[in-house]
Amino acid sequence: MKIHDIYAAPFIQEMCEVTKNLWRNGWDERNGGNISYLLDEEEVRLYLDLEPVVKEKELDFEVKELANKIFLVSASGSYFKNICQNPAKNLAIVRVTEDGKRYKVLWGLEDGGMPTSEFASHLKCHGVRLAQDPNHRVILHCHSIAISAMTFVHELDEKKFTRSLWEMITECLIVFPDGVALLPWMVAGTVELGLASAQKMKNTRVVIWPHHGIMGAGQSMDDAFGLVETVEKAADIYMRVISVPGGFKQKITSDQLWDLAERFDVTPKAGILDNRNKATR
Ligand code: 13P
Ligand code: ZN
Repeated sequence: MKIHDIYAAPFIQEMCEVTKNLWRNGWDERNGGNISYLLDEEEVRLYLDLEPVVKEKELDFEVKELANKIFLVSASGSYFKNICQNPAKNLAIVRVTEDGKRYKVLWGLEDGGMPTSEFASHLKCHGVRLAQDPNHRVILHCHSIAISAMTFVHELDEKKFTRSLWEMITECLIVFPDGVALLPWMVAGTVELGLASAQKMKNTRVVIWPHHGIMGAGQSMDDAFGLVETVEKAADIYMRVISVPGGFKQKITSDQLWDLAERFDVTPKAGILDNRNKATR
């Protein structure tokens, strides 16, 4: 079988495009942010001989649920601004071993680097999201600005935070009806952060790391990016409104959000909106 140029692979091109967009948006300064993309083995075979192994490494956590799965992942320390300029240095294609305790590097990391320091969060979240949705593919972490800003001024209560975001753009409720999850501040790049994020991803596709950034899950790059973009924009509007003297004069009401849920056939996460027809804030 003829093996095509890997730089022509749609998954490499998508990764280049998304990392560039994240950087342009100011959400991935320096090496901030990381992405992993679950690939289809048959598709990868068109571009890469899967037999040679560049190196094999132990994970300090287990992901048996991802045995033999192949991921395209950003390298630790890679600058999103530059990923496109040298994908073979800044990205890796890795395969989780059968026992879920190690991974094999099949391509990339040409300067000897490692997958992102948030690999635990990525792999653990993939495992959880795949169990919820067989079409799940992407985990994206970035340091988006407004959402981080909002974690300094808004109460760090998941329900209140979700409601504040839903109230900022009419369509937020449709894009993330399961709301957002919040973790306490935690040290970056740890297995603990990975396990805590994955626990949250059982019920939502968005996990906010206070004073750090956001983690989003999606069925495609566009889906994950669009999700983070929507949450970030809602947070941006929130921050702009509270910066105006006098702040909010009105908000989208609970009843209006119930109307929206009905019209678009989504079920808002329980316990966030006021009961229907009750006086709203
Ligand atoms: P990496 O460069 O290791 O991916 O780390 C960036 C980051 O955002 C950590 O949270
Ligand atoms: Zn980060």
